[in-house]
Amino acid sequence: MTPLAQELVRLIRDEGPLSVSRYMALCLGHPRHGYYMKQDPFGAAGDFTTAPEISQVFGELIGLWAATLWRMMGEPAALRLVELGPGRGTLMQDMLRAGKVVPGFREALTVHLVETSPVLRERQKQTLAASGVAPLWHERIGDALAGPAIIVANELLDALPLDQFVLTPEGWRERLVGLDSEGQLAFGLSAEPETKIARAAPQGSLLEQPLAALDMAATVARHVAAAGGAGLFIDYGAAQTGFGDTLQAMRRHGFVAPLADPGDADLTVHVDFARMAQAGLSAGAAAHGPVTQRDFLLALGLDQRVAALSRRATPEQAATLLAGASRLVEAGSETDMGQLFKVLALADPRLPLLPGFDLHRLPEQAVP
Ligand code: SAH
Repeated sequence: MTPLAQELVRLIRDEGPLSVSRYMALCLGHPRHGYYMKQDPFGAAGDFTTAPEISQVFGELIGLWAATLWRMMGEPAALRLVELGPGRGTLMQDMLRAGKVVPGFREALTVHLVETSPVLRERQKQTLAASGVAPLWHERIGDALAGPAIIVANELLDALPLDQFVLTPEGWRERLVGLDSEGQLAFGLSAEPETKIARAAPQGSLLEQPLAALDMAATVARHVAAAGGAGLFIDYGAAQTGFGDTLQAMRRHGFVAPLADPGDADLTVHVDFARMAQAGLSAGAAAHGPVTQRDFLLALGLDQRVAALSRRATPEQAATLLAGASRLVEAGSETDMGQLFKVLALADPRLPLLPGFDLHRLPEQAVP
């Protein structure tokens, strides 16, 4: 048993079963044993790899997207560039480097990072040391938002805790983490049905309630609708709402059982993009997308960027660049990054359609 599992067993003995959201929150954010609180989980030696760690082109295209958006906003003299859950700081580093090509953009910005993990804050500080900005860190998104803002979050929503409910003959009952007869962590259902959910579905259906993610989307939407700007959310998940258990645990680049290694495995869920868009609309923003990561990055000029970088690279570097960029837009199967990952922007409704979402008006992409 992991140290956190021992603590959770004691907690459940004292207080009863935990909601799935409380279990997730403790696994990821427990001050001492939480997954993100004690380690840097990224890269080949870690548990998983994210898009900015796969290819510099990802952050560069998003940096150009942000600089273009700043121009569309009328080039405000002061802009907050806010990243939620910045990991190693790689995405921000690549965005800032690419943003240099747009005159005035870098001078207008202050960089704000919302990060709960002290280990990753330290890592972000190191990564961004040479980038010529002095980032400010915040514990919560509410503290990071003021004035015109561009907000970016890659693989953050998937880490936000959600609750689960299962439809039984007695109604929707909450899925809980309790103990089995041997005292091990096990899933069960609440004794009492949840009366607040009125959703028709086949018996046995599992419904997820991503309250923290919906709240995050609404906070971003309310802010940009009032103060100007947009939030860009990139994550894995479905464009349409569905039923089903999406909770998954990952360790050393493979899936493990979600209750097996609390605190030692990454715990994530799939993002329900239709509901995120709806939360943004209800809070007064316009929703652009969701589109697939493939469509978004190709519309932003991924091929052209790779070709331009390759001209200045050695043959080995060019091959690595092409392999990394190709992985980001691969869409042969449902689990390939280009297809599984979706992109949604919640924007000030006074802005026109944002770059990357205007898919139908683009010419065929030239293949380098
Ligand atoms: N965006 C990065 C990292 C993704 S991993 C990348 O693409 O590589 C998730 C990140 O979100 C980590 O930095 C983690 O510490 C942070 N995080 C997790 N829960 C958070 C929360 N509630 N608020 C802010 N950051 C959080």
